[in-house]
Amino acid sequence: EALHSVFLYHAIRAGMTMGIVNAGQLAVYEEIEPGLRERAEDLVLNRRPDATERLLEYAANLKGGKREKKEDLAWRGLPVEQRLSHALVQGITDHIDEDTAAALKKLGRPLLVIEGPLMDGMNVVGDLFGAGKMFLPQVVKSARVMKKAVAYLLPYLEAEKAGAAESKPAGRILLATVKGDVHDIGKNIVGVVLACNSFEVIDLGVMVPCDKILDTAREKKVDIIGLSGLITPSLEEMAYVAKEMQRQGFTLPLLIGGATTSKLHTAVKIAPEYQGPVVHVLDASRGVPVASQLTGAGRDEFAAKVHAEYAVLRQRHATQRSETRQVSISEARARRLRPDFARHVPPRPAFLGVRAFANYPIAEIRRRIDWTPFFQTWELKGKYPEIFSDPVLGTEARRLYDEAQELLEQIVRDKKLEARGVFGLFPAASVGDDIEVYAGEDRGEARAVFHTLRQQMEKAEGRPSLALSDFIAPKESGVPDWIGAFAVTAGHGADELARAFEAQNDPYRAIMAKALADRLAEAFAELLHERVRQEFWGYAAAENLSLEDLIAERYRGIRPAPGYPACPEHTEKRAIFALLQAEAQAGMLLTESCAMWPAASVSGFYLSHPEAHYFGLGRIGRDQVEDYARRKGMSLPAAERWLASVLAYEPG
Ligand code: SAH
Repeated sequence: EALHSVFLYHAIRAGMTMGIVNAGQLAVYEEIEPGLRERAEDLVLNRRPDATERLLEYAANLKGGKREKKEDLAWRGLPVEQRLSHALVQGITDHIDEDTAAALKKLGRPLLVIEGPLMDGMNVVGDLFGAGKMFLPQVVKSARVMKKAVAYLLPYLEAEKAGAAESKPAGRILLATVKGDVHDIGKNIVGVVLACNSFEVIDLGVMVPCDKILDTAREKKVDIIGLSGLITPSLEEMAYVAKEMQRQGFTLPLLIGGATTSKLHTAVKIAPEYQGPVVHVLDASRGVPVASQLTGAGRDEFAAKVHAEYAVLRQRHATQRSETRQVSISEARARRLRPDFARHVPPRPAFLGVRAFANYPIAEIRRRIDWTPFFQTWELKGKYPEIFSDPVLGTEARRLYDEAQELLEQIVRDKKLEARGVFGLFPAASVGDDIEVYAGEDRGEARAVFHTLRQQMEKAEGRPSLALSDFIAPKESGVPDWIGAFAVTAGHGADELARAFEAQNDPYRAIMAKALADRLAEAFAELLHERVRQEFWGYAAAENLSLEDLIAERYRGIRPAPGYPACPEHTEKRAIFALLQAEAQAGMLLTESCAMWPAASVSGFYLSHPEAHYFGLGRIGRDQVEDYARRKGMSLPAAERWLASVLAYEPG
């Protein structure tokens, strides 16, 4: 086992990308007993002529041959500094109060404990993480140990309040999810990792207006501002914050992160608004090196490097944009998809109207969870369940999954989350690129209108220029058709649960709770979609698909969600929420940027046509944006703001 592990460790670093291994028998490189590791490396790396003999000798001295599986408590005999370091690296909270007390007794002052053994331990964690030898879930568990130790010391720190030397952080960082946006898992993780690396983190939470961010930054004299966002309207808000920083004379660095952000967008849209350093941070593991460089001696050099890199990106982007070819909206409409509605007669739903669910059993929903994105949240990149046999990530992925299951049990048992949802099925017809929704089957006056957007990129001959409205029978065809809409959440209770864990100094479970609520919301969307196909609409009553098939969407019909590639404009959620009365029926709200609250929510449309499929809108031209603004009753600048991420032109 040790030889395998040592071999894999070095081979992967040397570029090996694939191997066939026995995943059940892999030791973690760092955990191999040093004497054994040295001998194994001597052998694998051919470091000395007697490597074989030495290893055999070592093996002969092992009693019984088999490694003991039970918890090894030998570390309890180490000096207190090393016990603390071990607890931090291994994420063990069991003895932390006792060891912290011992360290306090030995060193005399709480600050000396924090700045001494605790910080030393966290530095080891930071180094291992930086070197790819520890993964995000482990780091967050280390943070939990640190928090518990600091919580133990807090009363002593306060008692001491002689105003003596305050501990000196590596830098003070303000983090905030921008106005209109509610998502913060990624930001929480970044905050935890930064704090592990002795940065002081001021986390202002979600939906934070620009003024509050900048006022706090000034008042607390922070060294860096970090902004986060999940949905595309947040990109505009981030650019606004950058502009305000320029106007108010800030010079400190601005970090940009979150699912919707990209290096390119940061370079093209945000950096030009602000003369201070603006840096996109891809994920939590990049947060620390970037923040360290921006607060260290090489700050100007680093900023200049990023500045130059972004200038190149901007340049390339400008050339590419002028080279992409678009067709006019009228040409695109002429090339729309024309499914044969007469041959595939749209199925009449078994149920028409709106139906709500409160307290939907989580135990049922959890069976539909797609776990792959859960591992992405924790920055363990791999597909479930294969990830468990990954030689590098496998052990940690398994542990993370087991702990997620444990928390899920608790959530089900103690009813910590409530799943609520609402869907509706209605008569509908397409009118141009709009979809009219009717109260009655006479298809008279529209009760709601969904506005869809059409692809305008140049396409090969015979390829349609798609809009979601193409999948609904046109009004003039006289063919009756139907559409569905849904809004589901598993987030009621999630904030409270996360806060309770925070109060117990347990950031690991706090983040886990939110990540699970997200998973449950998507799983609920999957489950409800299945019931709609089989039962409420009933057009696929005989469908019998495995979870794998469901995740791969091997069923008839789609559930496109506003904010996603086929329909990237978020305000369509307002139409869905109004039609379904999502607030009254499911306790769901929209922020001014059309982020859904609770954060763990999904909403969208149900389209049943066999030819309906997901696609990406791509970039659209001014002609369509003008037309869209008119259809939606929006001003052109407002439409351009909502569509900023898909415009093929520079507005204004
Ligand atoms: N199984 C995944 C689904 C993620 S995609 C999970 O559990 O996370 C999230 C949602 O986006 C889907 O449920 C679907 O409603 C929607 N979606 C996916 N691709 C889309 C596209 N191209 N356009 C519009 N909506 C899309």
